[in-house]
Parts: sequence; structure tokens; C-alpha cells
Amino acid sequence: MNTLESIAREVRMCTKCSLHKSRKNAVPGEGNLKAEILFIGEGPGSSEDNIGEPFVGEAGKFLDELLASAKIQREDVFITNVVKCRPPNNRDPLDEEVRVCTTAYLFDQIKLLKPKLIIALGRHSMHLFFPQIRSISEVHGKAYKKAGQVYMLMYHPAAALYQQNLKNTMKEDFKKIPEILKQIDMS
Ligand code: URA
Ligand code: SF4
Repeated sequence: MNTLESIAREVRMCTKCSLHKSRKNAVPGEGNLKAEILFIGEGPGSSEDNIGEPFVGEAGKFLDELLASAKIQREDVFITNVVKCRPPNNRDPLDEEVRVCTTAYLFDQIKLLKPKLIIALGRHSMHLFFPQIRSISEVHGKAYKKAGQVYMLMYHPAAALYQQNLKNTMKEDFKKIPEILKQIDMS
């Protein structure tokens, strides 16, 4: 039987797809093993690749701000990515890389953590669970239930680094998280 720790050890040694060739460090994800909220980004960037932890670069700093605006402590949540190794030059992960990595790791991480709420950050993460949704602009900040699991779909924090006006939108979206958790508890 896997545990979140054993998955992390496997990820750090993984060679299941070609992304392992260019990575410095795989990034299994980290956080509270009893987290109610699981954040899923796209994949490590260069800062994350350098130290092997998720969301520690510029996008990570903004994620910290977003968590603060929702009054959520980073140590209370779990944070990971769709693919665990950095795609070269930050290109999009290929469909095959996403398929291999998520079937090997992410879906088991979800089963083990059993989060009340999954928060998908960005298009790649959203498409994994809701392939039919075209654009985040139509769905951001809203909760959706699928097969008993509640999801919130959010813009990617890195997007707000290039589009200042998204910063406030994202903060408003994050402020809705506590209320959605309460609704899940009551349902
Ligand atoms: N962007 C992501 O999608 N994930 C990270 O871990 C860092 C930046
Ligand atoms: Fe393994 Fe995922 Fe890294 Fe590919 S991206 S080598 S499947 S951990």
C-alpha cells in the first residue's frame, strides 16, 4: 500500500517519462498529510526544479499572498502539480507526459489524501478533471462537484504576474474558499 511519503520517494527517482532527463529535482508536492484542501498546479518551474519543492518561485510568492487573503495557512494545505518534473524551457507538458505522470502519482495522491476540496490552478490542471471546459474565464472561483469530489477552478497564479488586473480577481476568488468548505461540511 502506498503512502504519500512513499509516492514522494518514488517520484524523486522516477524515469517513467522523458521529462526526467532534463530535470534537476522532481517535485512530488508537499504539505499537511491531513489537508482538507489540495492545490494542483501545472508543473515545476525553474525555482521548484532547483530545490524540489512546489510553488517556491515568483508564482509561489503570489500563491502565498492569495492564501493569506483567504486566511489559509500554507502548512494546513497540500500543494502539488499535474506533472512532477519541469518541462524544458517551461513548455506545456505533453498529453503523454500528463497521462503517464498522473496515472502513476497524482491520482493516487488524491486517493490517499481524500481532500474535501481540490483547487485546480490553471488550464492544465482544470482540463485533467474537466476536459470539456474551454476557458477558465467562464468558471473561475466557482465550485463544481463531480463523482462526489468538489473542485474549485482558478486562474494560475503565474498568469497574474503578467496581467495585473487578474491579481484582484484571484484574491476575490480565493476569499470564497472558506465559505465553500463550510458548504461542503453541511452537505
Ligand atoms: N507553477 C506551477 O504550476 N507549479 C509550481 O510548482 C510552480 C509554478
Ligand atoms: Fe516521472 Fe512524472 Fe517526472 Fe515523468 S514527470 S519522470 S512520470 S515524475
